[in-house]
Amino acid sequence: MGTHGRRRTRFTPRAMSAPAPTLDSVTTINPDGSRRFIHPADVSGPWTRWRGAFGLLILAVYVCLPWITINGFPAVFLDLAHRQFHFFGLTFVTQDLWVAFFLISGLGFTLFYLTALAGRIWCGWACPQTVYLDFIRRLERWLEGDAPARERLDRMSWTGEKLRKRGTKYVLFFLFAALLAHVFLTYYVSPAGLKAMMTGPPTRHWGSFVFVFLMTAAMWFDFVWFREQFCIVLCPYGRLQSALIDNDSVVIGYDVKRGEPRGKKGTEGAGDCIDCRRCVQVCPTGIDIRQGLQMECIGCAACVDACDTIMTKLERPRGLVRYDSTNGFAGKARRILRPRILLYTALMLLGAAAMTYGLSTLSPITVSCTRVQGVPFVLDGATVHNEFLVRVLNKRNQPQRFTVTVQGGPPGLTWSGLQDGLEVRALGEEMRPIVLTAPRATARGTFPLEVLVTAPNGRDVVKKKVSFVGPGN
Ligand code: SF4
Ligand code: SF4
Repeated sequence: MGTHGRRRTRFTPRAMSAPAPTLDSVTTINPDGSRRFIHPADVSGPWTRWRGAFGLLILAVYVCLPWITINGFPAVFLDLAHRQFHFFGLTFVTQDLWVAFFLISGLGFTLFYLTALAGRIWCGWACPQTVYLDFIRRLERWLEGDAPARERLDRMSWTGEKLRKRGTKYVLFFLFAALLAHVFLTYYVSPAGLKAMMTGPPTRHWGSFVFVFLMTAAMWFDFVWFREQFCIVLCPYGRLQSALIDNDSVVIGYDVKRGEPRGKKGTEGAGDCIDCRRCVQVCPTGIDIRQGLQMECIGCAACVDACDTIMTKLERPRGLVRYDSTNGFAGKARRILRPRILLYTALMLLGAAAMTYGLSTLSPITVSCTRVQGVPFVLDGATVHNEFLVRVLNKRNQPQRFTVTVQGGPPGLTWSGLQDGLEVRALGEEMRPIVLTAPRATARGTFPLEVLVTAPNGRDVVKKKVSFVGPGN
């Protein structure tokens, strides 16, 4: 389809004619505020290959996870309709949401930790925006050719050829966006729910239909036009990184000591940088990494591969642009253990410990026992009755018969209502009355007692403290 097969190192017209990136302005925005659309040049090399393979793995995991069934549910299923969350065989209900706090804060601290250690490793390797755009750019290259060919097509008037190429591209982008949006919905409705929605009329599920439509449209807009602007002007994490990294964090940078002063090969006294601008041409955010670490750098390592290719051709050591710390570039020793790493490690371990404790103590039953509204007790000749409502939520995805017993209360207490136990369907809820009866002579005042609900395994027991109320003294 395109001219992607020609992988020669070449200068693109865009890079030759474009203004040189500066630290005072965003390369992809013109002085008048309009967008300057850039086509990064093709690049190949080990980092590009590893990132491509890793991106494919992430995409595969994202698409396949809802189709993997564990204990009868998708591996990850946020069942909003039933207020349940299924996560690799565990089922959480609304009451267990406190565990999610530790999960989310733990993920946040893990990101802080990774950033302090390895800079924008998340942005360059795992962020969905980067992974999707990498795929989109590969697709674009396959359809329209290399960067110079794409720029020529940009400048062309709308001939039949341009209509065909751009039309095909936009349709394929739309299909990719629609696929991603439907997969996203599957995490909330399960594959079976998605199938039912897709084979039924939209009028039966307007909310989901509009959601998928809007998500597809937003992603299509991102793929067609917005692209790297998302990282530059929208993403808050890019702005946070300067607070998270220090001189020992691994970032992508340029070895000034080795590269400067720049000069063509053979120039007396010149450093290793021949000022070919190849590292600028391949940059998806249009920056010049030789100007130092910048907020726009998403850590994609394209400039590393680009410069390594040049160095190999010049028979010079690779690594003029490389992964290293600021201290490393300055020729100083790099510290791995430092206060912020120790702090993030401690916070991560704390969160992991709290989550492990939470998961291990998570009860498979939720029980409530409440006095029926109205009078607290009923006098019936020589006896006193108290009535309660026992509500049992079965958090397992198989039906269970729970045993209900009563401990404590006034002497001679008997009870009726749930002697045969309580059968609750999988992930279901049942509410039944229980009537406690005591002789009037012994039930004067208030008596604490416990209602015990025991799961079939005998280990999971929930005790609810209530009190038996009789007539006063
Ligand atoms: S690719 Fe390497 S040699 Fe070329 S300009 Fe960039 S740093 Fe200099
Ligand atoms: S400077 Fe290098 S690592 Fe950073 S975004 Fe540009 S090409 Fe990627």
